[in-house]
Amino acid sequence: MKTWRQEVERAADLPSLAEGLRSGQVPGVYGASVQFLDGQLLFLVRDQLEKLLVIVTKGANTPFAAESKTTMGQFTVHMAQLTSQNAKVLRSVVPWTAPQAFGREGISMGLGDRLGLASPGHIKAIRHTRVRPVLAQQSMRELDLTQRTYQDVLDAATWAVFQEGYQAGYGADGDHLKKVEHIQAALDLGFSMITLDCSEHIDDEVAHLADSEVERRYGELPGDLRGLFAELYRERRYELSDGAFVDMGDVQFHRMVLTYYRTLDFIAMVYETVIARQARPIDFENSIDEVATPTSPQDHFFVASELRRRGVEVTSLAPRFCGSFEKGIDYVGDHQQFEEEFGLHTKIARHFGYRLSIHSGSDKFSIFPAIGKHASSSGYHIKTAGTNWLEAVRVIASQEPALYRMMHRKALDTVDQARAFYKVRLNIGAVPSLDSLSDAELPGLLDHDHARQLLHITYGFILADPVLGERVFAVLRSHEDVYERYLVAHIGRHLRALGIETE
Ligand code: ZN
Repeated sequence: MKTWRQEVERAADLPSLAEGLRSGQVPGVYGASVQFLDGQLLFLVRDQLEKLLVIVTKGANTPFAAESKTTMGQFTVHMAQLTSQNAKVLRSVVPWTAPQAFGREGISMGLGDRLGLASPGHIKAIRHTRVRPVLAQQSMRELDLTQRTYQDVLDAATWAVFQEGYQAGYGADGDHLKKVEHIQAALDLGFSMITLDCSEHIDDEVAHLADSEVERRYGELPGDLRGLFAELYRERRYELSDGAFVDMGDVQFHRMVLTYYRTLDFIAMVYETVIARQARPIDFENSIDEVATPTSPQDHFFVASELRRRGVEVTSLAPRFCGSFEKGIDYVGDHQQFEEEFGLHTKIARHFGYRLSIHSGSDKFSIFPAIGKHASSSGYHIKTAGTNWLEAVRVIASQEPALYRMMHRKALDTVDQARAFYKVRLNIGAVPSLDSLSDAELPGLLDHDHARQLLHITYGFILADPVLGERVFAVLRSHEDVYERYLVAHIGRHLRALGIETE
C-alpha cells in the first residue's frame, strides 16, 4: 500500500491524484474529504492522534495558514493544522462547511457533540436519510462543564463535515440561551439556530395557587391587557387549520396568562433586538420546556397566538410535554396521554406554521413511534444531547476497562454535586457494584438505566479531571472507528423507532 506522499509524488495530475486518494486505500487519508477548490486539492489526513489539512497545488498560494510547504513530484504540498483560523477560511471558501438554517419544514435532529469527536459518526448515521443534522448544539452549561467555547464547537462541526464530505447542509444551535449577549455572540460566529430558553420568565408557582389567589393576581394586571386577553381567549373555541379544536376555559385561562405573559415580552424583546436584525435566515426556537408546569395544548395555543400577534417569527417551539424526559433513559409517563397531547401540539404548531421541537429526545424509544406517526408529514426537530457521551463511555468500557473503572469511581465520588444540575431518578444503590463485574461485563452497564444516569450527569467532573479527561480523549481518538460504529448503531435505533428509513 502506498502512502499519501507516494501518491502525490507519482501522480500525473490532480484529478488522478484525487481519484487515488478517494479510493479509501491510502492509509491515514480520509477519502471522503478529498475536494477540489480553485485548482487546489484539499484533504484531511491522520497522523497518529492528530488530524491535518493537506493542500496540494501546482505552485499556487493557498488561503489556508500552512505550517509547512514542500515540493513533492510536480506539486507543492502545504500542511495546515485544524486551527480556528483555518476553519474560518474553510467555511468561507467551501460553503457547505458553514452552518445553515433549516426553516419551518422537514425533520431535523439536534446531535450535540460534547467532545468535538462525535460529528463524523453522527453524519454517517443520518447521511442516507431525510433527517437534517444540527451538529453543533451546546448550552452554556455544557460549554462550562466541558471548558469549550462556541468557536470550538463550530470549528469541530466544520472539520467533521469536511472530513465526511457531507454537503447536504448542517445546523449550529446556540442551545438554551437566556441572555441577549450570548445569543449575539453565537450569531456573530455564524450559528444558524438559536434556542431561546424562556424558563426564567415562566411562572411555575401559578399552577399551585388557589383559585382565589389566581383571581387576585390576575386582577392586578393592567386593565387594557386583561381586556385584550379576555376578548381574544376567554372561553373561546379555536378551530385549527386541519379541523381540530382548542377550547379555552375561564379560570384556567387566567392561570395560563399569569404563567406565560412575561415570557411573551421576553421572546418579543429577543426577537426584535437580535433575531430580526440578522441579514441571513436564522432558525429561532422558543423553549418553554425547562419548567415544572406541563404545557397544555391551550397554553401552547395561547403562546403561539400571542407571538404571531406580536409579529415574532418562530421556526420551532419546544413545549414541556406531559410525563418526564430524563437524561439517558426512556420516557416515563402516561403514553396514551402523551400521544393524544402530542398529536394536538403538532396540529397547533402546523396551524401557526412552525415545527414542534422535542427536547431531551435521546433514548425515548417508547414514544418515538407516536412522534413519527403524528409529526412525520409536518416535520419536527428532535434534540438528542447526551447520547454521544454515553456511547463514548461505552467505547472506553469495551476498549480500556481500567480507565472505565476510574471514570466510574469518579462518577460515584461526584454524583452528589452533579445532581444539582440534573433532575434524575437515579438510585445509586441500584447501580451494580464495580467490583462484582468482570471487564467483559463493563460495557453492559451502558444498558442499565441507573448506571447510564450516573455516567451521564457526571460527565463534566470526569472530563475536568486532569488525568481522566486527557485519557478519555486519547482513547476515543485512537478508536475513532469503534466510536463511529457505536454512534451509527445508537442513532440508527432512534431513526428506526421514529419510522425514518435508513436504507
Ligand atoms: Zn429544553
